[in-house]
Amino acid sequence: MSKEAEKREISPEMARAMQDRLRLSEAMRLIKHKVVVMSGKGGVGKSTVAANLACALARNAKVGLLDADITGPDIPMVMGVEGKVPRVVKNKIEPIEGPLGIKIISMGHVLPSSEAPVIWRGPLKMAALRQFLVDVNWGGLDYLIIDLPPGTSDEPLSIAQDIPDSEGAIIVTTPQQLSLLDVNKSISFARAVKLPVLGIVENMSGYTCPKCGHHEDLFKSGGGKRAADGLDIPFLGSIPIDPSIVLGGDSGKPFVLEHPNSPATKAFEKIVEKVVGEVEKHKPKPKFKPVGT
Ligand code: ADP
Repeated sequence: MSKEAEKREISPEMARAMQDRLRLSEAMRLIKHKVVVMSGKGGVGKSTVAANLACALARNAKVGLLDADITGPDIPMVMGVEGKVPRVVKNKIEPIEGPLGIKIISMGHVLPSSEAPVIWRGPLKMAALRQFLVDVNWGGLDYLIIDLPPGTSDEPLSIAQDIPDSEGAIIVTTPQQLSLLDVNKSISFARAVKLPVLGIVENMSGYTCPKCGHHEDLFKSGGGKRAADGLDIPFLGSIPIDPSIVLGGDSGKPFVLEHPNSPATKAFEKIVEKVVGEVEKHKPKPKFKPVGT
């Protein structure tokens, strides 16, 4: 073999990487819309938003929910599927079935115990996420909602690289200044990795009395809207503080299903409508016009 041909020869590592890429794009091709939920810091309600978004969409669509928070997986508890172990069928991991048939997978489902700490470095976390995308039998879905860990770590980078056609990120914040400052970081990060931003949600935004409907801004509110306006991205809406959200989250009952008439659910439904509108806008445009149009 000539020196040139030798150089062009594909190494086994390269062949494996190419095969991996192919399997990834085949798996992702079956999923119409991929939406990630991010936040600059923890505890702002990101998993709550991801889980309830999945439930609200699942009323009319086929939905998957991927818990990409490898080191702190909360989705199994929030969705009431804690302790379930996925089956492996024909070398594929079968996702756990949650409410309304939502297909769920989380590191929490493959760890021996929910208390087991995961101490993994970046490359391992990225490999695990790739496996969740490729080796889980998602099948055909209308939406895959991806709950990312807080901050700008390896997981969002991995998702941005592995799902280049994602419709984009929903950024969750609370009205507190500290959380709002982190919004800027999340947006800069999303822009740097070319992940479109679908908009900002302000969570824990005041309290609406479920009896009389009176709304009280307990802390300052409106920061999420101001941040969105300042950054020229859509503001998707606010969710009030509602004690039933905490109780539901702890007992695995997403609030949009448990309390369909609560002020928080009504507020959330408006957000979902906007998300669907933004997702439709971000649909990839056809690359060429069919002949005769
Ligand atoms: P994150 O994913 O950002 O860490 P979580 O979704 O786990 O945050 O929410 C943190 C806690 O706040 C949970 O106990 C959750 O039930 C609660 N929570 C989230 N949103 C609200 C809300 N609007 N009203 C009351 N409690 C909420």
